[in-house]
Amino acid sequence: MIPVVKTVEEVRRYVKSAKKEGKTIGFVPTMGFLHEGHKSLIVRAAKENDFVVVSDFVNPTQFGPNEDFEAYPRDIEQDAKLCKEAGADIIFNPEAPEMYDNALTTVTVDKITKVLCGASRPGHFAGVATVVSKLFNIVAPDRAYFGEKDAQQLMVIRKMVKDLNFDIEIVGCPIIREEDGLAKSSRNTYLNCEERKAALCLSRALNIGKKMIEDGEKSAVAVKNAIIAEIEKEPLSKIDYVEIVDLDTLDPAERTDTGILTAIAVYIGKTRLIDNFIIEKVDNK
Ligand code: AMP
Repeated sequence: MIPVVKTVEEVRRYVKSAKKEGKTIGFVPTMGFLHEGHKSLIVRAAKENDFVVVSDFVNPTQFGPNEDFEAYPRDIEQDAKLCKEAGADIIFNPEAPEMYDNALTTVTVDKITKVLCGASRPGHFAGVATVVSKLFNIVAPDRAYFGEKDAQQLMVIRKMVKDLNFDIEIVGCPIIREEDGLAKSSRNTYLNCEERKAALCLSRALNIGKKMIEDGEKSAVAVKNAIIAEIEKEPLSKIDYVEIVDLDTLDPAERTDTGILTAIAVYIGKTRLIDNFIIEKVDNK
């Protein structure tokens, strides 16, 4: 069985001894209840590094007071199996007091955390940036792996790493989906049968938007309106946001050929789901 370690000291001991043997360190931060999306990150980390650490920690500081921290699904035994299959070497699964002992320090990334999920979830990205900084300092990896499923989070982490000179390569990995198109998420387990069908409106709407752009639509607002219209056809849905933004600044985009992130957050019943697609800048030269 793969070691599940609970303390910072133990993780450091494992990593130090791996480094002593000249091994490179790959790191995959997660909140557990692992699925194929997480697995794709771990498999990639194992391919590109000699020693892989997965953190499995439902971080309380990135949840708002009315969010699902308590209800968030947890299953460390199942996670340990998946990690082993995927090629990880250890799991770091601390309790909250191991991570936060009367801490007074936080890491905040400005501007790009104020839009999209940051606008709907105040404090969320400060929680993420702080815990990821701590985990980077604990694990001291060569490379860390993040999913494009959380596209804004990936951008925030890239910016933080650049701004604070973390000597870590950030690797973005593509979104893994169910066969019918729903982006895999630990939160999908909240959906009942009817909601699970309704949740397909996210990927369906994004596909419509993507196809419009591929067919030559240049107006961001036209694409955005088509996405909104498709989601609103689903009675169980309630849009949190639908935005098309510049890939670097996250400012609203007017055109679709300048490098864009199309990101959506939609409630299906009580469950908030996110999804997105990225279209890189079209080079007309
Ligand atoms: P979470 O456990 O939800 O915090 O996710 C941990 C990491 O897995 C993050 O970098 C996510 O972006 C990534 N991830 C979650 N779901 C998927 C997915 N369906 N495809 C690719 N990466 C994912």
